[in-house]
Amino acid sequence: MTTSPADDTSSRSLLAVDAARARILDSLAAVTGWERVPVRAALARVLAEDIVAPYNVPAHDNSAMDGYAVRAQDLASDTETGLAVVGTAFAGRPFSGIVGPAQAVRIMTGASIPQGADTIVVQEVARREHDVVFVPPGQKRGQNLRRAGEDLAEGSVALAAGRRCGPAEIGLIASLGIAEVSVHRRLRVAILSTGDEIASIGRPLGPGEVYDSNRYTLFGALSRLGCELLDMGVVPDRPDALEAAFRDAAQAADVVITSGGVSVGEADFIREMMGRLGEVAFWKLAIKPGRPMAFGRIGGAVLFGLPGNPVAVMVTFYQFVQDALLKLMGVSPLPPAERFPVRADFAMRKQPGRVEYLRGRLQRSADGLAVTLAGAQGSGVLRSMSEADCFIVLPEDCAAVQTGDMVLVQPFNGLV
Ligand code: AMP
Ligand code: MG
Repeated sequence: MTTSPADDTSSRSLLAVDAARARILDSLAAVTGWERVPVRAALARVLAEDIVAPYNVPAHDNSAMDGYAVRAQDLASDTETGLAVVGTAFAGRPFSGIVGPAQAVRIMTGASIPQGADTIVVQEVARREHDVVFVPPGQKRGQNLRRAGEDLAEGSVALAAGRRCGPAEIGLIASLGIAEVSVHRRLRVAILSTGDEIASIGRPLGPGEVYDSNRYTLFGALSRLGCELLDMGVVPDRPDALEAAFRDAAQAADVVITSGGVSVGEADFIREMMGRLGEVAFWKLAIKPGRPMAFGRIGGAVLFGLPGNPVAVMVTFYQFVQDALLKLMGVSPLPPAERFPVRADFAMRKQPGRVEYLRGRLQRSADGLAVTLAGAQGSGVLRSMSEADCFIVLPEDCAAVQTGDMVLVQPFNGLV
């Protein structure tokens, strides 16, 4: 854990987004502990060991097309060649004989190449008359074959440890005949909301109260990641209640994520308390929305103290927390942040000094892809997150966006 006085808000300097991300990631390592699970249960889990191909994939040379298995040496180069069809090879039911001179075997896609044959002629170009097939000139030796080991050679690493399994990965594991794999244990993440004004759903709102949405967005994001979730509810802004909640959470979980209570006015006693319980740095990040954030350790748990505003929670979660959780889950290498420039279909002024994450919508038009703003951009307006399909990332030094400028976007697809 790297914390220094410079991290403290008293320095009055803003910590750059990239520097904060690097500090967080550098201070974390994958949790230890793994388990064996059936291949289906490996979905969204992280491999704890390499998956090595136990044999060649495909296992045998086979046909990529429906057609005829022939010997290239039998084919005339300038005229049609007639070959005697001596049998049929199906996928899973090979032709057991040998293809001799001037012979051919009818073959289906995926069938093993019969002994003696070296070339597949696709059925669309062949002309069949009873037991003779006529092959036009111009065939190439070895065409339309899939070679044994072409996808994966026996003994090679099919998937490296650290890979998170999606549909393709569990399919690939199954294609190797592997029924069980070793995966990192699930990460236990505790979440809690703070604030005297925060009400849990299921009862009417009192004066000045707001319903807790942060535990729901965090629930969604963490469930997607495959974390084991410990929902610690809403904790009022009372030092004794907060201290008890932080202690419980840190004892039960690998990671504690809180929202609220880190802004000016509320931060003081929380900071004092966190300092007592563990080693926590308060960062004023050069980011909008989401300036204040706490990061550190309490007991054995990693703590993320996110701001309270619902959009700020989502922005800071996706910019800082998600990759940190993936690293703790054992993901290696981390997936690169997908960002690309598109044309802005909006104009706005911006204060330099902070990276700003706007909620955007990508739109296709005659002159290519463009991005517009998705609704009101206030940091409490969760609807803009719901209507958006990307973040628009404006760098620290940016002072304005003109319609037609190129701006960086980070699509939600794959991120959120
Ligand atoms: P705070 O960081 O505690 O000062 O909160 C900033 C703003 O976010 C305030 O308007 C809070 O009411 C709001 N807020 C804090 N926590 C939540 C929550 N869990 N759900 C919805 N809004 C919240
Ligand atoms: Mg609060």
